[in-house]
Amino acid sequence: MLSYWEKEYLINYDLIIIGSGIVGMSTAIWYKEKYPNSAVLILERGLLPSGASTRNAGFACFGSLTELIDDLKVMSESEVRALVKRRYDGLCAMRSYFGDNRIGYNHTGGYELICEGEEAILDHIPTINALLRPIFMEDVFEQVDEIEDMGFGKQVVRLVKNKFEGELETGKYIDSLLNTCQLKDIRIITGADVIEVEPKVLVKDPLGGSPIAFLSKKVAVCTNAFTKRFFPELDIDPGRGMIMVSNTLADQIPWSGSFHYDKGFVYFRKVGQNRLLVGGGRNVDIEGEQTTLFGINPKIKTYLQALIHEVILPKQEITIEFEWSGIMAFGNTKEPIVKKISDRLSVAVRLGGMGVAIGWELGRSLSGSFSEG
Ligand SMILES: Cc1cc2nc3c(=O)[nH]c(=O)nc-3n(C[C@H](O)[C@H](O)[C@H](O)COP(=O)(O)OP(=O)(O)OC[C@H]3O[C@@H](n4cnc5c(N)ncnc54)[C@H](O)[C@@H]3O)c2cc1C
Repeated sequence: MLSYWEKEYLINYDLIIIGSGIVGMSTAIWYKEKYPNSAVLILERGLLPSGASTRNAGFACFGSLTELIDDLKVMSESEVRALVKRRYDGLCAMRSYFGDNRIGYNHTGGYELICEGEEAILDHIPTINALLRPIFMEDVFEQVDEIEDMGFGKQVVRLVKNKFEGELETGKYIDSLLNTCQLKDIRIITGADVIEVEPKVLVKDPLGGSPIAFLSKKVAVCTNAFTKRFFPELDIDPGRGMIMVSNTLADQIPWSGSFHYDKGFVYFRKVGQNRLLVGGGRNVDIEGEQTTLFGINPKIKTYLQALIHEVILPKQEITIEFEWSGIMAFGNTKEPIVKKISDRLSVAVRLGGMGVAIGWELGRSLSGSFSEG
């Protein structure tokens, strides 16, 4: 049984948010911006945020050339333009709130490697630029010659640059969100596995006692890939992604920027002093990666290691010092789900591989669905 003190001071809130990823913390911050005197609680099952937000690659991107060409096969032109606009506006809003320095944002540009046999992709550049002109007012994609100095494998024959993309330090961004929550008096309880959200928010007692009921007139569910537990009817498929980071390399990496390869399924960049970060490769085993369990898929690891040695940095000796996985959420469309389930309860989930771009603004939308008190 709860003590008198626990019941009086620790259980009751104006808004309870489940999940402390980018969306959960953004929702809390936006709600407090609007209602500074409200009591807001975030419940997080991990000791740290434990989904995708602390495990991503930090690409501040909105869709590579080949990704957008693929999107146009299943979406209308106006839908693709709206998708890109949401992502780009999201990035601008997040950068303007936190400032580039705080989140470690670098406007290095995005690049896509085009391999032998894929050159026809370049013919689409004028069409895609025309499609995006209303957003950017100038060309987004261009073929560049810098490839000669970048040391990629021989199969890479062309390079496409996107001058509007950049990269951030994922850890710095999450740290900024956590610090802002703290400054705004937003309480975060970690190790709090929520087992039920309706009619009450019930949290498993890690000490083995009865579940603890937290009380709130409003509840925001921001559990992304893990949301089916509460709403099995939602169209959400988990998609695990893996990342590897090398040792600090002896020879300077001969390029900078955020790189896409294989229709955006593989991505790589430089991190730290001179380390290589490589991630993705889900397309090698899509079925095997449809899981909410963390872990490394040996098939994908082998594929990424081969790419490092054959395509990305063929001339360097490399040791992998870090490898990890994170869980994303996908569905039949690329749009996230932002839905009012009842007067009391709303969800904002299914961010695909673009949560860095859209998570902050999604939190703003979700917070706007709740009134004060
Ligand atoms: C390997 C990888 C690389 C990526 N790279 C990029 C990139 O470069 N650029 C980009 O834009 N996006 C990238 N993404 C996607 C991006 O990270 C996600 O879209 C984004 O982090 C989703 O944020 P979220 O807050 O919705 O979900 P999450 O970060 O998954 O947060 C959900 C939180 O809910 C918590 N939770 C779940 N169930 C419960 C429960 N029952 N009780 C309490 N808490 C619970 C989880 O522990 C988790 O902390 C990548 C993702 C991965 C996995």
